[in-house]
Amino acid sequence: MARKIYLDHASTTALRPEVLDKMLPLLREEYGNPSSLHSFGRRPHEAIEHARESVAALVGARGEEIYFTSGATEANNWALKGVAGAARIKPAHVITTQIEHYSVLHVAKTLQRQGARVTFLPVDSQGFVDPAAVAAAIDDATVLVSLTHASNEIATIEPIAEVAAVTKAHKVPLHIDATMTAGNLPVDVNALGVDLLTLAAHQFYGPKGVGALFVRKGTRQLPLLEGGLQESGRRAGTENVAGIVGMGRAAELAAGELGERAQRLSSLRDRLRAGLAERIPELTFTGHPTQRLPGHVSFCVSYVEGESLLLLLDARGVSAASGSSCTSRALKASHVLEAIGVDSGLANGSVLMSLGAENDESDVDYVLEVFPPIVERLRAMSPLGHGGM
Ligand code: PMP
Repeated sequence: MARKIYLDHASTTALRPEVLDKMLPLLREEYGNPSSLHSFGRRPHEAIEHARESVAALVGARGEEIYFTSGATEANNWALKGVAGAARIKPAHVITTQIEHYSVLHVAKTLQRQGARVTFLPVDSQGFVDPAAVAAAIDDATVLVSLTHASNEIATIEPIAEVAAVTKAHKVPLHIDATMTAGNLPVDVNALGVDLLTLAAHQFYGPKGVGALFVRKGTRQLPLLEGGLQESGRRAGTENVAGIVGMGRAAELAAGELGERAQRLSSLRDRLRAGLAERIPELTFTGHPTQRLPGHVSFCVSYVEGESLLLLLDARGVSAASGSSCTSRALKASHVLEAIGVDSGLANGSVLMSLGAENDESDVDYVLEVFPPIVERLRAMSPLGHGGM
């Protein structure tokens, strides 16, 4: 049988069988509405509260500070719109960066159209935001700083605790989009000093379509979805009970394994990166080489299109990504690569290879065997002026 290697964990991860086992009873016999007072509602209600404690424990929070959402996109929308909406200062000022996921960036632009002031901070060539630049941008009207913990495209882990020291000194709430880190790296809301934090279950082997927002007690925030008393009246709508239970189970499993897995994936990542650099000339690696997500290798291949590379890789059984999975169908240069100063021609050759729990050394070695000849072949045909490697 042809070999299949999944190297797109930055887009999503496989649902673990142990997680699915926990979810199935909630889809079958325990189908009551958790808001119902009768016996059918009791078990789903208890299951949600158990999951809330598990997700809270994963990030060092209290259960009452965790609100379940339909995913990271909703959590990010809610963090920005909810905090800006609750602010007494008008027009409010929000600070974010140029490398955010669109579920932050587009919301920030919407707030701007509605009259808020927004500062989009630049990052350096490795993708780091400068805590001093955050300090300089804060003014009397600043109501929120929102920052990715690590970009899914370049993987650099941002200096969150340093930024938190700045926001705390100015009494401005700090939101971080921990979609890529929570469940994959140790993340603790108190050690980091954040006030709001976004998580997505499907990035740590849980189900898609469910996430959570941590909101530190005392943070002023309007609801995004109104019309029901679920989630303490702060996020209306009958809960995705099976999804929430799956997220809770995935969080429990992640909490027990993530230290060891992160170490293993970091060493596979370094093997992949070093092997690529050795075999293929003119690769531009993006993001920081080591202060980055475990398992995540990102680079640009000069003279060729990322999409062509992916299709030929796919034909050899390797599933990787180019740019952000959310924009890869749009075929335009990534705003994240632009922000770190990669020129648009080179950005067209962007490739992301993200390893996960089921990958091993033999997968890395297989990629190192099949990928260089693909690059060589495409470069030989390239109209961009390169006649071979
Ligand atoms: N933030 C980041 C950093 C992401 O990479 C993604 C998508 N993987 C999201 C937010 C949105 O996640 P979802 O599509 O699960 O809502």
